[in-house]
Amino acid sequence: MLRGMTARASHYNDVSHKIWEFAEVGYKEHKSAELLKSELRQAGFTVQENVAEIPTAFSATWGQGKPVIAILGEYDALPGLSQETVPRREPIVAGAPGHGCGHNLLGAASLFAAVSIKDWMADRKIAGTIRYYGTPAEEGGGGKLYMARAGVFRDVDVVLTWHPGDLNVSSDQSSLAIMSAKFKFYGKPAHAAGAPDVGRSALDGLMVMANAVEFLREHVPESTRIHYIVSNGGAAPNIVPEYAELFLYARHPSMPTLDGIWNRIVKCAQAGALATETRMEMDLVDASYNVLPNDALAELVDRNLRMVGGVTYSAQEEAFAETIRKTLPLDRARPLGSQEKIQPIAEGYFSASSDVGDVSWIVPTAAFNTATFVPGVPAHSWQSTACAGMSIGQKGMVAAAKTLALTAMDLYTNPAELKKARASFDQRRAGYEYQSRVPPDHKPPLNYRDH
Ligand SMILES: [Zn+2]
Repeated sequence: MLRGMTARASHYNDVSHKIWEFAEVGYKEHKSAELLKSELRQAGFTVQENVAEIPTAFSATWGQGKPVIAILGEYDALPGLSQETVPRREPIVAGAPGHGCGHNLLGAASLFAAVSIKDWMADRKIAGTIRYYGTPAEEGGGGKLYMARAGVFRDVDVVLTWHPGDLNVSSDQSSLAIMSAKFKFYGKPAHAAGAPDVGRSALDGLMVMANAVEFLREHVPESTRIHYIVSNGGAAPNIVPEYAELFLYARHPSMPTLDGIWNRIVKCAQAGALATETRMEMDLVDASYNVLPNDALAELVDRNLRMVGGVTYSAQEEAFAETIRKTLPLDRARPLGSQEKIQPIAEGYFSASSDVGDVSWIVPTAAFNTATFVPGVPAHSWQSTACAGMSIGQKGMVAAAKTLALTAMDLYTNPAELKKARASFDQRRAGYEYQSRVPPDHKPPLNYRDH
């Protein structure tokens, strides 16, 4: 399997590079999704389009019956991170999007794995189903939330996913559940000097809310994160603001705890409107669960990751890595050379959120990172965009594809592994029933990147 994949790697490097060049932001990933779908169709998969009424979401299925093993693919870029594949800041188009989270590699490795597994299943007449989920808008648009709400993961036995990073590590790690919304305040405009008494300031409503949130900060459970921006503060100082908008995120390691915090934040917003005689509307943007990690799958992935091995640089890549590291604050970074090693399984939780969280409460989910970025390079940076577009990122991509493929093979051929994954899921879920935090009538925010 691994030798065969090495021989086919260059094709998937090309696929990842095309998606890197498309650099399409969340829910606008039309070319990227088309490319992935056409690759899957050519490989014999049956493609279902427009999943959950999202034009760039899809699933692709091959085979029949149980078990159903699914791999997640992402392919959205980030605004403002356009960057050449050079170790100095040099946008291709200034201000344009770029693949700073390496989702071009994410989608391509998952494709590479899905096609390789399918070929192996066909060859060996292995029973079961392999599926690829094309999941758009991971970066704050929550594509998987709407796919989860639509029930598309219900028949799946195990979900495999991975993420680009600067190290190789299997994950038994959770994340932060997140709720985010735009709080929109509507007031009454007036001349701010001539007739302030007839005006009702939307900005005042926003500021009362923000102050209430600051007082609330003292009385929330530890590990809570609340952060916000004023995304609209009015048009001009001499007009009483008719409209103001606060874009706020709240996070906590547990969704039921976050529910309580969120209710209180909404009260802060209502208080702002009440105190200032303005009107408040809440527009929900994200509502992702924390990841429910699976220790059985973490161990299985760890074994396979060690079999595949880390990423070895050529002399040229080494020079690139050394140059790009000089542009970084390296106080928290791992040394150069750590990309060759496999770290111990990660535990605890990381202080970030992902829409993989919802999937992991529905299906036992495996997750890991490979070193697609030079050690020390953080995600969402021009440095990571550069790595994701060249051979360093592609080497990490191939390592991820191989690890996904080996893990799926184990799950198809060894029912005990499936059972262990299910047992870990049931034990950690402890009877908690997943319920989407996205209201039933809430449509996917297909234009959330438009301003
Ligand atoms: Zn990402």
